[in-house]
Amino acid sequence: GWDFKGLLKRNWLLIATIVSVLLGIGLGVVVREYASLSHLHKQYFGFPGEILMRMLKLVILPLIISSMITGVAALDSEVSGKIGLRAVVYYFSTTIIAVILGIVLVMTIKPGVSQEAEHIDRTGTTPNVTTVDTLLDLYKTKRKELEPPKVKGNTTITTFPPLSTTVMNITKDYKIVGSYSDGINVLGLIVFCVAFGLVIGKMGERGRILLEFFDALNEATMRLVQIIMCYMPVGILFLIAAKIIEVEDWEIFRKMGLYMVTVLSGLAIHSTICLPLIYFAIVRKNPYTFTLGMAQALVTALMISSSSATLPVTFRCAEENLRIDKRITRFVLPVGATINMDGTALYEAVAAIFIAQLNDYALDVGQIVTISITATVASIGAAGVPNAGLVTMVIVLTAVGLPANDVTLIVAVDWLLDRFRTMINVLGDAYGAGIVQKLSRRELERMDVTSDVDVTNPF
Ligand code: ASP
Repeated sequence: GWDFKGLLKRNWLLIATIVSVLLGIGLGVVVREYASLSHLHKQYFGFPGEILMRMLKLVILPLIISSMITGVAALDSEVSGKIGLRAVVYYFSTTIIAVILGIVLVMTIKPGVSQEAEHIDRTGTTPNVTTVDTLLDLYKTKRKELEPPKVKGNTTITTFPPLSTTVMNITKDYKIVGSYSDGINVLGLIVFCVAFGLVIGKMGERGRILLEFFDALNEATMRLVQIIMCYMPVGILFLIAAKIIEVEDWEIFRKMGLYMVTVLSGLAIHSTICLPLIYFAIVRKNPYTFTLGMAQALVTALMISSSSATLPVTFRCAEENLRIDKRITRFVLPVGATINMDGTALYEAVAAIFIAQLNDYALDVGQIVTISITATVASIGAAGVPNAGLVTMVIVLTAVGLPANDVTLIVAVDWLLDRFRTMINVLGDAYGAGIVQKLSRRELERMDVTSDVDVTNPF
């Protein structure tokens, strides 16, 4: 019959995490109803969750450094070039698919078009001027309210980075040892690690010392991750409870319903149909078993809205549950967490066209193509941190001549959408690792025969 005990034993962490999500929602609702916490008490209440976030962020740096350097150094440069190329082709094509899916959905569902406007479209009759479209009205007033305060004559928000910043980050100063508060420049770090890994790989005997050092560092970091993961259910319980207490405007969800449905159904289709199809076409294995193996990472992404901070868990799921070759995960996952964001790309396209619809702004074909290109760029440029996609939205909006400040219209629901798109971002990275492994099996087998440094099993 059923090996219930074994099932429980193997998946205790996942089960505990899901239970803690439910408990957290319950706790949040109860505290919200029956206790009115002061601002300070709310912060105390959220602290156990904050600890989880800090612990996860703490291991990202050693994890990325050790995995990227050993990943690159262990392969010869020809093989790593091939694997890198395959990964980039995968990242790019799945992101484009996500964007196109988003555009098709938002143009079909039309969440931002008022009933009235559609009426004119179809029949050409004069609109009934007494019909008030509440959604559109809400936005017109809300937009005025949310107009950012003008700072000393400067009219625009200055926190939005222009496109060039993304490019410049590649070579920006990266503090290897520095404060985490301003975030890690992961893109710059990856470039450094690739270069360093390539050099070590070419150094021969003395390079091996470094390779073994970074390999041991990786092992140690992953053991740390294992310990952190035991704390995960507690942290997640308080993260979600604190969020429920904190949200001020639940009503906005009803008003933004159709927009949210558009984004969420796009994410659902991409993750349950598009990615699995591609996986099945190439790997010929059950894609849903694959998704299930990633469950712990997916719940984590959903709870913490950051693909970078989820990276340690992504690694564990991919290597332990799905048994993906470490030479692949070390390469594909950190880069993927930084530049491969299918969920974000889909979201950017939907949100930009939604804003155009709210503004009664008709987009021509050229502008829709522009949106698909800039949405892709914006998703690559977004860091794997909470709400990053909202910030890079500005690239998309300005490219088609929409007011950049209109992102304020969708801020209120972003915390929720951010969670779901992060989850799809992480899933896309994992599928990428699975697919690249399959495509690279020949090179990997050849290396198994010739290589004397076995990074897959250092001890
Ligand atoms: N939070 C997302 C991530 O970490 C990025 C985004 O805001 O879209 O993957």
